[in-house]
Amino acid sequence: MRTQVGIVGAGPAGLLLSHLLHQQGIASVVVERRSESYVQQRVRAGLLEQGTTDLLRQCGLGERLAAEGLVHEGVLLRFDRCTHRIPLTELTGKTVTVYGQQKVVEDLIAARRAADGTVFFDADEVSVAGVAGDRPVIRAVIEGRPVEIECDFIAGCDGSHGICRDQIPAGVHTQFEHDYPFAWLGVLAKVAPSTDELIYAFHGNGFALHSLRSPEVSRLYLQVDPSEPIENWPDQRIWDELQTRLGTDDGWTLAEGPLLEKGITAMRSVVTEPMQHGRLFLAGDAAHIVPPTGAKGLNVAVADIKVLAEAFASWYAHGNRDRLDGYSQACLRRVWRAQDFSYWMTTMLHRDPDDTDEVLARLQLSRLRYVTESPAAARTLAENYVGYTTST
Ligand SMILES: Cc1cc2nc3c(=O)[nH]c(=O)nc-3n(C[C@H](O)[C@H](O)[C@H](O)COP(=O)(O)OP(=O)(O)OC[C@H]3O[C@@H](n4cnc5c(N)ncnc54)[C@H](O)[C@@H]3O)c2cc1C
Repeated sequence: MRTQVGIVGAGPAGLLLSHLLHQQGIASVVVERRSESYVQQRVRAGLLEQGTTDLLRQCGLGERLAAEGLVHEGVLLRFDRCTHRIPLTELTGKTVTVYGQQKVVEDLIAARRAADGTVFFDADEVSVAGVAGDRPVIRAVIEGRPVEIECDFIAGCDGSHGICRDQIPAGVHTQFEHDYPFAWLGVLAKVAPSTDELIYAFHGNGFALHSLRSPEVSRLYLQVDPSEPIENWPDQRIWDELQTRLGTDDGWTLAEGPLLEKGITAMRSVVTEPMQHGRLFLAGDAAHIVPPTGAKGLNVAVADIKVLAEAFASWYAHGNRDRLDGYSQACLRRVWRAQDFSYWMTTMLHRDPDDTDEVLARLQLSRLRYVTESPAAARTLAENYVGYTTST
């Protein structure tokens, strides 16, 4: 089999790239190791920056987004049992939209199917070879038969546990990594959200977040120890802790309901530099991971894909490799801005387990008061939260 761009991974990055390339008349094949239903049901990100929703609309994926996306003009910070609103739209002119990552993936799969796009799910033994030469290949076992896909280029969109990153030789790339001493316990609850806007709470017991998925489903998170097993967190303990950390003195109440799903995710910052080697280009979580506090992971993945799709279009239309050669450099400024903002939000809102004398907690409270009192500080948070566009 032969194609122009071989794509490893059918997450939002890989599917969006395939969709955008198709719109430019460029052929691609997507190879995914998981089943289609697994990929469509994986609960992950849910907050889209305006740049992300603008792109989805421009490429024909705006209909369901307009019908089901919840547009937010502000975000709430809660500490000392009081709530403070950051008016995102008033400060930046932009909005953010709550629209689950599964819906983005469903919309993309439907668009690829409608265009007869080739997406192989359930692929076994996926491997990549020859990225430093002129004819890279993707090999896999598909429906029990070995398949070799010859490509002009390969896009590694295979997430943080993928195989493509390892194709960049050790001496050629640097991996920057930072582990945080906490994790997020995330739950999906069948209960109407108790808030119209996301609530980020700082509490002596740790961070909590009340997010939303739809008018009927809430997404909630608690800071927990990364080594803690999920069995330590029966449903009622989760609700009790959410009630404590999100509690206020103004009469606000948190409605409880059945938990549909729960899981613990460790928090890391990772950046691979450069994000390319020969004819291989990494995008999304395959190249970088941010802690989820700033809600940046999916948005940075989409931003990578926009740059990469335009670079491929320039190559196939004009034979010009400049934009492909400059891909990594064009992405990394935004990647590091997202890393810094996510680090800043994370360290402002989480209780450090080593902070036994509570010095850090005092500094965090001071920073939270500053961010909610000073218009300049609030604007800094707002312009990063809605998606700061770095100059190139
Ligand atoms: C539990 C969790 C919660 C998150 N919450 C948020 C959030 O609230 N906000 C936010 O912005 N971001 C969040 N993120 C991050 C966000 O989901 C990711 O940034 C986003 O999924 C990146 O998309 P991607 O396509 O690059 O990678 P992925 O979505 O990881 O997709 C990669 C795909 O490649 C496939 N793959 C892997 N290895 C292979 C292989 N060898 N061969 C073939 N296919 C392969 C995988 O099965 C997967 O389908 C969260 C992530 C996790 C894990």
